[in-house]
Amino acid sequence: MYPRAFHYHRAASLKEAVAMLSELGDDAKLLAGGQSLIPLMKLRFANPAHLVDLNFIPDTSFIREDAGTLRFGPMTRHAEIENSAAVSRVPILHDCAAGIADVQVRNRGTIGGSLAEADPSGDWAVVLATLKTQVRCMGTDGERTLSLEEFIKDAYTTALDHNELVSEVAVQIPAKGSGGAYLAFKRAAPVYPTASVAVQLTLEGDVCKDAAIALGCVGLTAIRATDADAALRGQTLNEKSMAAAADAAQAAADPQPDMRGSVAYKRNLVAALTKRAIAIASRRARGEQVEAGHMYA
Ligand SMILES: Cc1cc2nc3c(=O)[nH]c(=O)nc-3n(C[C@H](O)[C@H](O)[C@H](O)COP(=O)(O)OP(=O)(O)OC[C@H]3O[C@@H](n4cnc5c(N)ncnc54)[C@H](O)[C@@H]3O)c2cc1C
Repeated sequence: MYPRAFHYHRAASLKEAVAMLSELGDDAKLLAGGQSLIPLMKLRFANPAHLVDLNFIPDTSFIREDAGTLRFGPMTRHAEIENSAAVSRVPILHDCAAGIADVQVRNRGTIGGSLAEADPSGDWAVVLATLKTQVRCMGTDGERTLSLEEFIKDAYTTALDHNELVSEVAVQIPAKGSGGAYLAFKRAAPVYPTASVAVQLTLEGDVCKDAAIALGCVGLTAIRATDADAALRGQTLNEKSMAAAADAAQAAADPQPDMRGSVAYKRNLVAALTKRAIAIASRRARGEQVEAGHMYA
């Protein structure tokens, strides 16, 4: 189906995009990669009267390393992140970018659009929840910085005001001795996962000094499984501590039954993905190069 008719506006700067949103009111929407918005418009679930295109604004697609932080421009495409040498130092980010849908979606879809969409099945929020992530937002009164936790409020709901946009995503590079892994289980490339698990941990010898575990597609937003973190923190990494973390992750999941599986199936999947992700994260924390990412049914 074709979208309903709309007026097209091309912003020359982020500031101009904010001004356009203010002027055009509630019926205006930003267009980034269009990989969520355009399908919704074609299905006529979204019918904006005005589209403000961000694609022609210079210097909005970048990956910069600055004082221990990776900074992503709002229009940075998943594919740019997948292929970035700077990002390869934080393997969990590469796992995420490289696994999103297919090459066409990764070439268009952006990190800013993904976070702003706050799709409960989206991959970025899950992975970024295990890292120290800040989201910069620009509005008519200037910029403000929110933690990811403050930014994502609910399914499809963020802290952005109508005339505000995401201007940057900043991720602190984890300390030495840290490793992470993101595993998502899906039925085919261009569909969202059935369930996913992100694990980021720091080791001191065989002991887990710190851990952060997040679950995707099994709740209305990414779920931080803090009891699973606690099951690992201060413990030697072995079958017993990994099983305890997997049990806690499974308990934190809040899945809905759907065509992808029953509640029990999704909980089992979360437990299995958690164990595997911990194993890969710990090998990476020890300096091993391990390939990981999305898995297909
Ligand atoms: C077939 C298919 C499969 C997919 N599979 C996956 C998957 O497995 N995992 C996954 O994570 N994603 C998946 N996606 C979604 C994809 O990752 C998109 O990139 C993402 O959802 C939105 O990014 P976008 O840049 O395309 O945003 P758009 O679609 O352009 O915009 C999405 C929303 O965000 C708003 N917006 C955009 N940019 C900003 C900004 N800077 N500030 C404020 N608001 C903004 C828009 O107004 C709109 O409301 C899939 C998409 C398709 C079409």
